[in-house]
Amino acid sequence: MKAVVKTQPGPGQVTFVPDWPEPKPQPDEVKLKVAAAGICGTDIHIINGTWRCDAPVVLGHEFCGTVVETGTLVKGFRPGDRVVAANPARTCGNCYYCRAGNPFMCPERVSAGYMIDGAFAEYIAIRAEMCHRLPENVSFREAALGEPISVAVHAAIERTQVHAGDVVLVSGVGCVGLLVLQVARLEGARVIIAGLEKDARRLECARKLGAGAVVNIEKDDLLDAVMQETGGRGADLVYECAGSPQSLETCLKAVKKQGTLVPVGMYAGPVTVDFNAISQKELDVIGTYGYVWTSWERCLALLAEKRIEADLLISHEFPLEQYEDAFRVTQDGSGVKVIFRM
Ligand SMILES: [Zn+2]
Ligand SMILES: [Zn+2]
Repeated sequence: MKAVVKTQPGPGQVTFVPDWPEPKPQPDEVKLKVAAAGICGTDIHIINGTWRCDAPVVLGHEFCGTVVETGTLVKGFRPGDRVVAANPARTCGNCYYCRAGNPFMCPERVSAGYMIDGAFAEYIAIRAEMCHRLPENVSFREAALGEPISVAVHAAIERTQVHAGDVVLVSGVGCVGLLVLQVARLEGARVIIAGLEKDARRLECARKLGAGAVVNIEKDDLLDAVMQETGGRGADLVYECAGSPQSLETCLKAVKKQGTLVPVGMYAGPVTVDFNAISQKELDVIGTYGYVWTSWERCLALLAEKRIEADLLISHEFPLEQYEDAFRVTQDGSGVKVIFRM
């Protein structure tokens, strides 16, 4: 089968393979014919060699498709079912966190797309437990965004609570930032969102998605903008979705006293933070990582009810063969969300 494979660790080392072996489902797995798969920041880290990866491995961990075969122990899915699947691909199922329903915290979790073969391929085998059935009116194109939507839902609804009338700052206009914007608005917040000059297309997207204020931080002062919008008080909740230390520093200043600061983005390494500011402002700093089962159920309900705009975020579709173009437009900021269509 066709696949995009990271052949060795380190920067680059990615290639298109026309005849990668097709996966066989284990007893608890289904084999999916992949319909669409999204490229995310993690893929770019893997391509650049800044994220762990057990090469050789098929990349891609955000995907949906049609069941074509089921393992002998699988119940509840049949060939022909349209599904979207969550990570981690494998967990121990037995530890404290697995039993508590938080597979991302499992010390033995194994993720598809960099530890075992992922979805930038024609087929993938995945545990049936990780699959969610797609509502009839949700397209594969929309479902390709299931993972980032679930991340945004977990961050803005499950780990924190946005209240109607809140002013929310989202720093960073990547796919997750634009989705946190949408989820916060659904909860009734006014949202200020910030990005860079190179994010022009994404900032435009944020405007269309109903952001109350859109700030290009290379042109305007973000802190000034937040203070103006909040009568000098600061934002009630701040979601740092850029994963940059400078952005985190601004967020710490932009959040109101007794407000909530949520680091959503991943940093390239340890960052320096003024913890005195956290104490003296009595901030709640809430970590959020991945999602849980309920995040996906909420994500699919929101897609089915057409309350999340996913289509607008997908700027490019590519076949697997054009993986170089797909990764380039993801990296240089000219795209918003880029997906592969098989
Ligand atoms: Zn991802
Ligand atoms: Zn576990």
